Amino acid sequence: MSETAYLTEKQHIIDVSKYLYEIGLLIRTWGNVSCRVDDDHFLITPTGIKYDDLTPEMISLVNLHDLTYEGEYKPSSELPVHAAAYKVRKDAEFIVHTHQVFASCAGTLGMRKIFSYFEDDDVTIPVAPYAMPGTQKLADNCASTLKKFKSTNGIIMSNHGTLCLGRTSKEAIFEAVMMETACNNFLTDVCKMDVTQGVEEMFSSHLENGKIIYDVADTPERVKTIHKQIYGKRADVNYIIHNKSDAIMTVSRRANNMRPLLDDFAQLIGTSVKIPNNEGEIYNNIKKNVNVLFVPNDGAYCFGPSYEEAEAVAMVLDKGCIAYMSVMRNGEGHYLSMFDCIKMNRNYRKNYSKLADSVRELVDDDKET
Ligand SMILES: [Zn+2]
Repeated sequence: MSETAYLTEKQHIIDVSKYLYEIGLLIRTWGNVSCRVDDDHFLITPTGIKYDDLTPEMISLVNLHDLTYEGEYKPSSELPVHAAAYKVRKDAEFIVHTHQVFASCAGTLGMRKIFSYFEDDDVTIPVAPYAMPGTQKLADNCASTLKKFKSTNGIIMSNHGTLCLGRTSKEAIFEAVMMETACNNFLTDVCKMDVTQGVEEMFSSHLENGKIIYDVADTPERVKTIHKQIYGKRADVNYIIHNKSDAIMTVSRRANNMRPLLDDFAQLIGTSVKIPNNEGEIYNNIKKNVNVLFVPNDGAYCFGPSYEEAEAVAMVLDKGCIAYMSVMRNGEGHYLSMFDCIKMNRNYRKNYSKLADSVRELVDDDKET
């Protein structure tokens, strides 16, 4: 593929990605965007690159039938899902896959369809059965759901996110926006949810030359002790974000244990998170490979090697808590199996450290030249 091939289409994919990022439907490097270019090929965003950093040469050209690709960057790992959707839906020219909050949470309730509304219209959103991310099984499940609901432009991928299609990018974007509002309406009506989403930072800190720097000048001693314990037990942590969002506060008051309901929770946070009943139990919960520490009635500390990682954990935990509350209030839900969670968590940590290494190499290369 020459550098100028499909330049307009590639730039359009980048523009759409950045727009969805701006309106909060795409977060970090999660999700992906693709566009059909002929009967046998589509263009798709790469894996592990921030939307802000995207350039046209990072977009790969993929063969719909054998999934081979042209381009230097590794395409998104959800490429089988996009290929399957283009095959089933000949009219689809543009596809967006997101991990948007309310639609993803509605997809943890174990329902095959979400009945809701958007403005004055009734909306039915099909939910594709669960399979692990990146697998052919997930692509097959999405394809069979699209076959069954021929006129739908959007489906929820159970315990994961959404898949939105359109004859144009505008239609696919509309679908993602519409689904988020419709699913928020659903969670409000059926699960009696009334929470804002995101990160509500309170007492955060980071390490500088081995010294703890607190963001808030009058951080209480009780809180400082928690930060010291985390840094002391977890040598890999440099940033701690104290998140007191609505959903996290509710869970920190009422729950004892959280098992993952969403793939990104299993990947980034851990396979099981305990919520202590009293202050004395807090420190036993600082564990290897669990990037969250709940404090009774005081939210949770979310941590990681960089601010970005800690922030990602804080966002994914908030979403996980909205899912958890939705399932509790709905009375049932579909939890991920422990086996799948362990596998996803391990893969994520392996890939993340590989990615971190390659970034480090790039930085080192830059220093040399
Ligand atoms: Zn995904």
